[in-house]
Amino acid sequence: MLVGILHESAPGETRVALLPESLKSLVAQGIAVTVESGAGRVAGASDQAYIDAGAIVTSDRASILASADLLPLVNAPSPSDQSSLKPGAVVIGFLKPLDAPQALTAAIARPVTLFSMELVPRISRAQSMDALSSMATIAGYKAIIAAADRLPRLFPMLMTAAGTIPPARVFVIGAGVAGLRAIATARRLGAVVEAYDVRAAAGEQVRSLGAKFLDVDLGGISTEGGGGYAAELTEEALDRGRDLITRTAAHSDVIVTTAQVPGRPAPRLIRRAAVEAMRPGCVLVDLAAPAGGNCELTQPGVEQTLNGVTLLAPLNLPAEVPVHASQLYARNILNFLALIVKKGELTIDLADEVLAGACVSHNGNPVNPRVAKLLEAATTTS
Ligand code: NAD
Repeated sequence: MLVGILHESAPGETRVALLPESLKSLVAQGIAVTVESGAGRVAGASDQAYIDAGAIVTSDRASILASADLLPLVNAPSPSDQSSLKPGAVVIGFLKPLDAPQALTAAIARPVTLFSMELVPRISRAQSMDALSSMATIAGYKAIIAAADRLPRLFPMLMTAAGTIPPARVFVIGAGVAGLRAIATARRLGAVVEAYDVRAAAGEQVRSLGAKFLDVDLGGISTEGGGGYAAELTEEALDRGRDLITRTAAHSDVIVTTAQVPGRPAPRLIRRAAVEAMRPGCVLVDLAAPAGGNCELTQPGVEQTLNGVTLLAPLNLPAEVPVHASQLYARNILNFLALIVKKGELTIDLADEVLAGACVSHNGNPVNPRVAKLLEAATTTS
């Protein structure tokens, strides 16, 4: 069996799916590994390090695509890469099957087996494969660092001979994995932190980090969507959150917003009025930008200054921390591979709920029912 590791081709991508240290268990099973030259360079892994770990390094991307039986990737392959894949190969990565399922049709038709890291079920057994959480942890940390860097004020309270500086006030919207990491990072830097989430369970976690949880009466509606995720709310319920956010924005120096509902556009929670209520110099980091953004003024990937307020809408913060992002991702991938590679051979048992949940397609047929439905809808409308 041949495992291929590609130099990720998406603009701005710096991560790599497997690092040299990841290869040990594969090579020990007699698996051959071919790496595209430069694949790990920005993530701190030289071609020589891959060679030392037992891989072959080549600049011939086409030959890797055509011959690899297993391709762990960070991002979905481009349509032209999909058409070059070896039929029957297995591809694993952040394939965005709920956001853009039609972008995978060339690979499905090849046919190759596609596993999406976004779809790995959130059950205890699969926690070590939870790449979404790994990347959200990095994004939450990095969002606070970016905000602290832009803010024309300090985060900690300082008592000096020249006077006292009050602590920065940080407001975190969406206290999931990224939000909780943002809260913890802001607290460590000395900020006073408030947070809001529709899931009541988030309240205790927010308070345990020394932050204040802002509660909104949503009239007792169900806000849990299963798997730890939030449900999509009605406009009326969203409005109650929006009012709280506008009020809180007026006294916040930094807002980091992370609210998402899987497979849906990000809820629009921050109105123009909330941004206008912020003082000049304040910073808003919209981590939901890849899903359209939580702020109605967000332009994904674009940095704006609006009435002196800096609005950041990063699309790939983990790529700004390529070494640790690749390290965590590679471990998630290796743990996933342990389910499908046994004694050096591919063995795919779709009776395993982790594999069935994460599988976009197998032998040319959609497997995950949510993705299957989306693909069917895309075919009937095209
Ligand atoms: P996510 O990225 O989908 O969403 C981020 C946060 O936004 C969530 O906390 C969500 O409740 C919140 N949100 C959604 N709509 C909102 C709205 N209208 N207003 C305010 N907030 C809104 O979620 P995530 O961070 O990946 O995970 C959420 C939770 O899932 C985690 O905090 C954790 O408890 C749980 N989780 C469980 C497992 C596991 O069991 N293996 C793994 C990871 C996370």
